[in-house]
Amino acid sequence: MKKVVVYPGSFDPVTYGHLDIIKRALKISDKVVVAVAHNMDKKPLFDVSERVRLLKKALKGSERVEVDDFDGLVVDYVKRKKASVVIRGLRMISDFEYEFQMALTNRKLASDIETIFMMPSESYSYLSSKLIKEAAFLGANLKGFVPPFVQKAIRKKVRKG
Ligand code: ADP
Repeated sequence: MKKVVVYPGSFDPVTYGHLDIIKRALKISDKVVVAVAHNMDKKPLFDVSERVRLLKKALKGSERVEVDDFDGLVVDYVKRKKASVVIRGLRMISDFEYEFQMALTNRKLASDIETIFMMPSESYSYLSSKLIKEAAFLGANLKGFVPPFVQKAIRKKVRKG
């Protein structure tokens, strides 16, 4: 049976950190489903369809990767995809508390689903979509953080205010 893993998140927008995790997830699975969440606390910069489009472009040619979006509980989505593993990225120790809570909550909701944490290359271990957006609004060059077309898409949003 094919090993399918689900990598859920906001991806607002995709960064080289996310792409690094996807590359690592492919090493331990047959297929990675990158699942863009609809339900976010904060108002996203990019709507779901834009986030999906940017991810698909960044992952063009990756045959073992599917980009999808989902609403509701991660564990329900994982079951719908006939998967049993959730992939999450761990950057700094500051990610740990939230990720730990979420993994244990998901385990309580669905005991047959495991969460696997992966660490990115150290060059991306400080990178977050939030930081990128803040830097972009202050005029930073995002080269090395996000693919060029993502940088272009962010710049367009910044111009619109
Ligand atoms: P969320 O809003 O759910 O935290 P994100 O889209 O920011 O989602 O990230 C999805 C997952 O990818 C999370 O597990 C997050 O920790 C991880 N992640 C984000 N950026 C990086 C990075 N630079 N390196 C490793 N993991 C990352």
